Amino acid sequence: MAKVGFIGLGNMGGGMARNILKAGHELKVFDLNAQVVVDICAEGARAASNAIDAVTDVDAVITMLPAGGHVKSVYLGDNGLIAAAAKGTIMMDCSTIDVDSAREVVTAATDAGMAMVDAPVSGGVAAAAAGSLTFMVGGTEDAFAAAEPYLDDMGANIIHAGMAGTGQAAKICNNMMLGIQMISVSEAFVLAEKLGLEADKLFAISSKASGQCWSLTSYCPVPGPVLTSPANHDYKAGFAAAMMLKDLRLAQDAAVSAGVSTPLGAMSRDLYEKFSDMSADDMDFSGIINMLRDKSLT
Ligand code: NAD
Repeated sequence: MAKVGFIGLGNMGGGMARNILKAGHELKVFDLNAQVVVDICAEGARAASNAIDAVTDVDAVITMLPAGGHVKSVYLGDNGLIAAAAKGTIMMDCSTIDVDSAREVVTAATDAGMAMVDAPVSGGVAAAAAGSLTFMVGGTEDAFAAAEPYLDDMGANIIHAGMAGTGQAAKICNNMMLGIQMISVSEAFVLAEKLGLEADKLFAISSKASGQCWSLTSYCPVPGPVLTSPANHDYKAGFAAAMMLKDLRLAQDAAVSAGVSTPLGAMSRDLYEKFSDMSADDMDFSGIINMLRDKSLT
């Protein structure tokens, strides 16, 4: 079993780190939020005094942070993880960030003698806790081979997407589909309500018809049909609307810089911008159905 340093124990990282513990690894953890560190230490992890301490004397480092700025500030520079960790340490950043930042950090790590991958995830908080995430991994064949056993402890599907940054490319393309899909499913339920078609009936039909998709059958935006969906828990995230907006902005930035036209992706970003402005921080992205229902806001 290996020694693993884990930084970022939020909604996702908390569950992922617990699966590293369950796999029998020695786990050292750090987060700016002291409470989440206390909680996981009660289950067998060891608290690091800071990020540098978390990567000292470990075989592997896993980070699960909010955005590209956090990842760059944690990894790069004289006080960063890359400068502090021993040569040969395996580094996995599982945060969702922009492709350029991911490539910059992986290049810096590789130049310093580390094997590093960008390995963002799909699956949400329940899958993070269950160890059934999908990992989209960018990096060399050797870096992928070094990271795979750890990712396997936290996920069900580990897919090598290609060179560094392609994990993030896969993630933003996937989440652009998800954002568009969630709006399409929400619009269909709002229209069904007005046409006198009950939500349960639309769910029963479309989940077996060509409208079937993850936003409908695993994360239905109306209360009732899918018991685990945030719609049954006052739309508490889950996958926060602000995180969806972040991913849709990343997708649009990438589309502009690649010269690709993605009109529905752009419209979804605009709708999630409006929704995030009017929502609480912990509002799930499926709550957009309530904004779409209100004609004065769309
Ligand atoms: P979160 O905000 O719940 O967790 C982030 C954690 O990082 C927090 O505990 C925060 O205190 C900690 N943190 C921030 N800066 C830090 C620093 N400098 N040092 C140490 N700790 C620091 O976010 P989350 O929902 O767990 O998401 C994490 C990443 O996973 C994001 O990039 C998100 O886009 C991605 N993601 C989230 C979901 C989801 O359903 N929540 C699904 C897939 C991917």
